[in-house]
Amino acid sequence: MQVIDLHTHSNISDGTLSPEALLALAAERGVDVLALTDHDSMHGIERARQAAEQHGISLISGVEISSQWSRPATKKSYSVHIVALNMQNPQALQIVIEQQQQIRAERAERICQKLQQLIKVDLYPEILLEVEQQPDRITRSHIAKALLKNGIVSRLQQAFDRFLKEGEPAYVKFDGLSLEDTVRAIHEAQGFAVLAHPTRYDLSATNTRYLIELFAQSGGDAVELAPESDPLSTRQMVDRMIAQNNLKVSIGSDFHGDHMPWLKLGQTPRPRPEQVGIWESFA
Ligand code: AMP
Ligand code: MN
Ligand code: MN
Ligand code: MN
Repeated sequence: MQVIDLHTHSNISDGTLSPEALLALAAERGVDVLALTDHDSMHGIERARQAAEQHGISLISGVEISSQWSRPATKKSYSVHIVALNMQNPQALQIVIEQQQQIRAERAERICQKLQQLIKVDLYPEILLEVEQQPDRITRSHIAKALLKNGIVSRLQQAFDRFLKEGEPAYVKFDGLSLEDTVRAIHEAQGFAVLAHPTRYDLSATNTRYLIELFAQSGGDAVELAPESDPLSTRQMVDRMIAQNNLKVSIGSDFHGDHMPWLKLGQTPRPRPEQVGIWESFA
């Protein structure tokens, strides 16, 4: 059995390992096929590809795009992550990604301004140092780490729970591309659109089902299987929605490195016999 992991992060975004170190660890863990899927960035792909060649790993190009969707009946928009995989014409995604990076940079500044009001400390300069002065790489994980380093919270999770999560005082929405536009852009780049971690959005079961249906209607290709740590009933609900909507499946660990140690590189859920892996469509 091949070991396949189609959702991972490097320190180009909020992972702790460089692309080279990520591939070295993947080799150690026996990974055969790996996609690097940094948040709104493909900057690590070339370095990852070179390292993958040295280790005999098949490297799939990827990027995790911060998108949003809404229900027609309500005005509220919900955030969603779409993983783009195996782009044959990545250039076609470049403009979209540059827009996303601009949004990311502006949002980071606004979050830091809100935090400054609350905690009377300006964390922005030290966060910028962490991303080599490139504000378009800043994620909430970077901000959470700075809060931890400054002793304002005692655990990373607390940074999200007290400040950064939706509904908390330093939350700023990521006003990114719509779900439909994201899928379209990925297809223009001749890649596959995957709905990332469908059970991690704090949605009701009804809204999760609606999201998967909307994703299918928008032309999405595959949905990530729920991790084995989710309740069986949740995993079965995702499996049912995948089947009903004729979607393929993707499997990924969402590995970030040692600040999220519960996600293990190469540890991905096993598809059911009737499910079709999106990797079978890779050129
Ligand atoms: P952003 O894309 O800037 O909104 O940052 C999102 C990233 O923050 C996710 O990809 C996770 O790595 C991390 N994250 C989000 N929520 C949490 C949480 N509750 N606990 C720990 N990390 C989180
Ligand atoms: Mn992340
Ligand atoms: Mn995500
Ligand atoms: Mn991710």
